[in-house]
Amino acid sequence: MPSWLETLRDALDQVEYGIVLLDAKMTACFINSAFHRMFGLPPCPPGRCYSFQDLIYHGRDQRLYPIPDDQLTEYVQRRIDMVRSGGHAPVHLRLTDGRVLKYECIELPGGGRMLTYADVSVLVHALEQMQALATTDDLTRVMNRRAFYDAAQVEVERARRYGHALSVLMLDADYFKRINDQHGHAVGDDVLRGIATTCKTMMRSSDLLGRLGGEEFGMVLPETPLPLAVGYARKLVDAIQAQPVQTSAGSIEITVSVGVTELGSDADDFCSLLSKADDALYAAKRRGRNQVCY
Ligand code: GH3
Ligand code: MG
Ligand code: MG
Repeated sequence: MPSWLETLRDALDQVEYGIVLLDAKMTACFINSAFHRMFGLPPCPPGRCYSFQDLIYHGRDQRLYPIPDDQLTEYVQRRIDMVRSGGHAPVHLRLTDGRVLKYECIELPGGGRMLTYADVSVLVHALEQMQALATTDDLTRVMNRRAFYDAAQVEVERARRYGHALSVLMLDADYFKRINDQHGHAVGDDVLRGIATTCKTMMRSSDLLGRLGGEEFGMVLPETPLPLAVGYARKLVDAIQAQPVQTSAGSIEITVSVGVTELGSDADDFCSLLSKADDALYAAKRRGRNQVCY
């Protein structure tokens, strides 16, 4: 081997990115040390070379791909086909151990490929943490007002375009100020968390829940016409009344009032739906609280 080639090989073994060079037959003619470390790949037996398929199978056998067993064969095949068919823009590979690798396939003259793997876990996790902080309500861990508005607007737009049903709920704790006044703010906070937990456990995964502020929550129920939404809201009101919240001041009873509205055939946007739900909520308050109006 010419000495410059050895120097190049040594240099590529020093970089922190995983690098794999494939020839036109998809045989790995070079794998750097970082790649071996990243994937726990043992050295190739003398006189043999790993194929790209071997590398992908190695990841599968190490259970590194967060893919359900019944989709694994298809996933592995797709990865192999992607590299065979040419270069592609960088993608993020998520591994079962939490790492995120920025992976890129570059087509080389002569039909080979250069695959690069950069461990971007720290950056991606920091970004995800920041996103969670920016979109989650600190107290109740449901969506904050802004995230809820953003997600709700998307759902309303989708339902409007395809003519699907959608309902919006607005929920407000009854006489909540009394709880704060009698037991203190920290106990009030526990009660708010309790209300959020009941809402969370009773909603479908496609429903949206957000804290609009104070002791007010909003919900969007996609694919749900008004009668079903009202039925759901009544169950929620009953469940909250039936389950006193356990707090540091003991068990505290709370009730809520709910206003419900549905997306009409005349083009509603989310803000006008929320405003109608708010009107219905205040009707529920006027009629004595602990009930649903629509
Ligand atoms: P109504 O049945 O008419 O809704 O009466 P209410 O007492 O629930 O409504 P009001 O608007 O008079 O009082 C709401 C109270 O919620 C006042 C405010 O101090 C309290 N509050 C707002 N945000 C928080 C919070 O984050 N934590 C706690 N503990 N209390 C809060
Ligand atoms: Mg209230
Ligand atoms: Mg209120």
